[in-house]
Amino acid sequence: MQAVTTARDPYGLLGVSRQASSDEIKAAYRRLAMQYHPDRNAGDKAAEERFKAISEAYATLRDPELRARYDRYGDSPARPDFSRVDWQTVFQEADIRIDLGQMGMPRTGNMVFDTLFGLMAAAWRRSLLPGEERTVSLDISPEEARAGAVRRVYLPGPSVCPQCRGASPACPICNGQGVVRSGAAVEVTIPSGIRPGAKLRLRGLGGPGSPPGDAFVTVQVRLPAGVRFDGQDLITELPITALEAARGTESRVLGLSVKIPAQVKDGQVVRISGGGLAGGDLLIKLKIAVWQGLWRKLRDALT
Ligand SMILES: [Zn+2]
Repeated sequence: MQAVTTARDPYGLLGVSRQASSDEIKAAYRRLAMQYHPDRNAGDKAAEERFKAISEAYATLRDPELRARYDRYGDSPARPDFSRVDWQTVFQEADIRIDLGQMGMPRTGNMVFDTLFGLMAAAWRRSLLPGEERTVSLDISPEEARAGAVRRVYLPGPSVCPQCRGASPACPICNGQGVVRSGAAVEVTIPSGIRPGAKLRLRGLGGPGSPPGDAFVTVQVRLPAGVRFDGQDLITELPITALEAARGTESRVLGLSVKIPAQVKDGQVVRISGGGLAGGDLLIKLKIAVWQGLWRKLRDALT
């Protein structure tokens, strides 16, 4: 018996051992077939080749006679004749949703693969698999978290066309394909008072499919230097001069106008109700430091 490790090795193609059970082989094929499924890779030549190769590997290993012959002789002297394989049965058996009958396609021969990927490219919207979810993250400032904002985020492709959502044959963004392969920038409305780590759902803007997947934007709040979280509260320090400590002053902290009363002490904490995140407070620890205080006063005057 010879060790066969050619590119056509069906075990290698499916990533299973020579002792794999038929259930293991089927599961491995199904997993790979989902990855290279024409719905998710329309028009992609490399995915088409791969889909064909793993399908042939599975067609070899699912048939006890072909498997035994491969185990004995390897890929030579003659490759199995795949032209008579009923691919519809193969797909069905592995629970892969490709209905060749519905598409009016032949069930045997290479034509199945040639046309499957091409056909599907024109039929994105009649896609047979649910679309994939996409998750992107977005950093916002504490001010944006408090007041809300509109920000642009980039969704990786292929995604449902954010302009027409696949509904316009005359759409200039997707040329009527309903899908943008290279991804798209969309505007996201961040509600005021958002909680750090909140996920915003962009319904139907994920991967193409039936139904289209959703896209999720995970919103993180990026704090400037010297500011930290304590639950929903934000904590920071504010340098003031001795004169300000005696007479009181005003400053801007994290986008808020803050009044410091007269007669405050070093280390005293001023609490701004609702100045934190998602309804939390802003806690400002006062620090009497003449030069830093003067510098801050100057910056306040300039902004
Ligand atoms: Zn469009």
